Amino acid sequence: MNKYVIMGIQGSGKGTQAKLLAAELDLEHISVGDIFRWNVQHHTKLGAQVRRTMAEGELVSDALVEAVVRERLTLHDWNYGFVIDGFPRNARQAEFFLESYDLDAVILLELDDSEVERRVMARRLCSQCGVDYNLMAHRPATPERCDVCGGLLVAREDDTPEALAARLRTYHERTKPIIELFQRKEFVARVDASVPIAEVQSAVRGALGLEGA
Ligand code: AMP
Repeated sequence: MNKYVIMGIQGSGKGTQAKLLAAELDLEHISVGDIFRWNVQHHTKLGAQVRRTMAEGELVSDALVEAVVRERLTLHDWNYGFVIDGFPRNARQAEFFLESYDLDAVILLELDDSEVERRVMARRLCSQCGVDYNLMAHRPATPERCDVCGGLLVAREDDTPEALAARLRTYHERTKPIIELFQRKEFVARVDASVPIAEVQSAVRGALGLEGA
């Protein structure tokens, strides 16, 4: 069983790399941001609780996040392990997590701030099926339409310059310091995320010592 956390600044490709790794190793990809977005889109009670905070680019309360993560992991659908993305994001979440789960590695995708804005502003999501696109690297065949289901492509509500500024500030002030905390206890695999998607994936596998990397 493999248990990984994937970390990195906004736009570093956490979701993309986590999905590729999960598909290859039969892991569950658990994205806390995706769980929240699903709830917002489906107008659930949880969605109503987190919508404004997310749109402003702020962190949802630790209590809510921990409840969501705990409930998700209690499903125990992760026979071969999991790769969790977007969590933990501050010291308290990291401590909560490390108390309950032992990790095999933390994957850290490294990307300069200068590249972040360019990538994030080009990001689009299908409003129907959630597949993600990037107007620079992964364009849809028909403009503004999803290749898979034909749904309308939209920008994330928090991919605005204002919300991005808040998210970057939080990343540097609260999330980045937990890398040191992890480094004391866990293996941290640092990978350059500025190169094409397939190269990042192969570097991730290489750093984790996985076969065929
Ligand atoms: P993401 O898709 O990972 O960028 O997450 C989108 C938004 O969901 C974040 O900007 C936060 O508002 C919220 N969120 C996701 N994960 C967490 C977390 N671990 N702690 C607090 N808020 C979170």
